[in-house]
Amino acid sequence: MTESKNPGKSTLSIWGGEQEHPLYERSTQVPVVHSVSFTYDDIDTWQDVALEKQPGHIYSRNTNPTVRAFEDKVKELEGAEAATSFASGMAAISNVLGTFLKPGDRIVSIKDSYGGTNKIFNDFLPPLNIDVELCNTTDVDQMETEVRKGCTMLYLETPTNPTIKIVDIKRLSAIAHEVGALVVVDNTFATPINQNPLSLGADIVLHSASKYLGGHADALGGVICGSQKLVKQVYHYREINGATLSPMDAYSFIRGMKTLKLRIDRQNENAMAVARWLEAHPSVEQVNYPGLESHPGHNIAKQQMSGFGGMLSFSVKGGLDAIKIFLPKLKFAHRAANLGCVETVVGPPVTTSHVECSAEERAAAGIPEGMVRYSAGIEDIEDLIADLDQALAHL
Ligand SMILES: *Cc1c(COP(=O)(O)O)cnc(C)c1O
Repeated sequence: MTESKNPGKSTLSIWGGEQEHPLYERSTQVPVVHSVSFTYDDIDTWQDVALEKQPGHIYSRNTNPTVRAFEDKVKELEGAEAATSFASGMAAISNVLGTFLKPGDRIVSIKDSYGGTNKIFNDFLPPLNIDVELCNTTDVDQMETEVRKGCTMLYLETPTNPTIKIVDIKRLSAIAHEVGALVVVDNTFATPINQNPLSLGADIVLHSASKYLGGHADALGGVICGSQKLVKQVYHYREINGATLSPMDAYSFIRGMKTLKLRIDRQNENAMAVARWLEAHPSVEQVNYPGLESHPGHNIAKQQMSGFGGMLSFSVKGGLDAIKIFLPKLKFAHRAANLGCVETVVGPPVTTSHVECSAEERAAAGIPEGMVRYSAGIEDIEDLIADLDQALAHL
């Protein structure tokens, strides 16, 4: 007897979502359907499609064939029932928060969330009478206490940006469910190749597709996955407020994702090698990478991740002055605010994730002025290390 086995993640990166849809003129690739609307001669069919009794599309702010194929690909990689997409990662986050939070609710999260998310927590939710409790990211006991006080949502992100801290998804999800809270996890840094939060107990997993999913830094978008019921609620909210992903960007993601597994495997390897090399360098003070045994979250990372990811951060001796000398000397790295693409990208939090904070606020957040966020690309590892070596030699 042959058992039916789920396809692996390389296969799903390529074929996921692509066989579900009738393709135009027998094309082998998902076409970019730029049409805003879809035409029906039969009024009954039109009505059935509009009422979701029959598959099909009505208007591209709601659904679109190219966008749907992208959503289905991510859905399969996250092992979810359903997915829906957005114009950016921040749109995915704000639509999830907007769908499920109402005045009087309470949300528990971590201090180290993505800068934009942190801004929503600190500036946008409190005036709506939504209580926000931001815990120390690695203090599981504090998080447990705050969740047990009661909350509508537990919002997590792991590994975090740019501190690369690890949060225990399984343990915290179980506690959140005891108090009836919804668990949302930003999985942008890990990608569905390295971590599947739904299988660890989360209710909704979300991504900035602009990073690893697309992988080429040429398209902006976001996506969420979860149960039919939850995703449908968020879809109806997004359909009306209009933060829709464009078909062209959906196509760029589909194309980029065909190599997702290959890229992530290589980025896992490159980041690990760079982290080990940096750890032994005399000009480097600290290296944050969950694959290193020295990382405080290493054991949890080993349990919940199948690879440690392409993101690391490190601080150099001499602070910001040293960074100003060292970073411009790198030949194989963009100095830019994005991450997760095929090229190596570097940036100090002082110009990227934490540009709006004062030096004191950064220090309180555990971000030294000499910190560098390093997004390992898929270049040859010998070249990346030689490049770091010659650049650090200027210090
Ligand atoms: C970039 C990023 C976002 C925001 O995504 P955009 O596509 O830029 O809106 C959210 N979360 C994390 C972890 C990110 O890195």
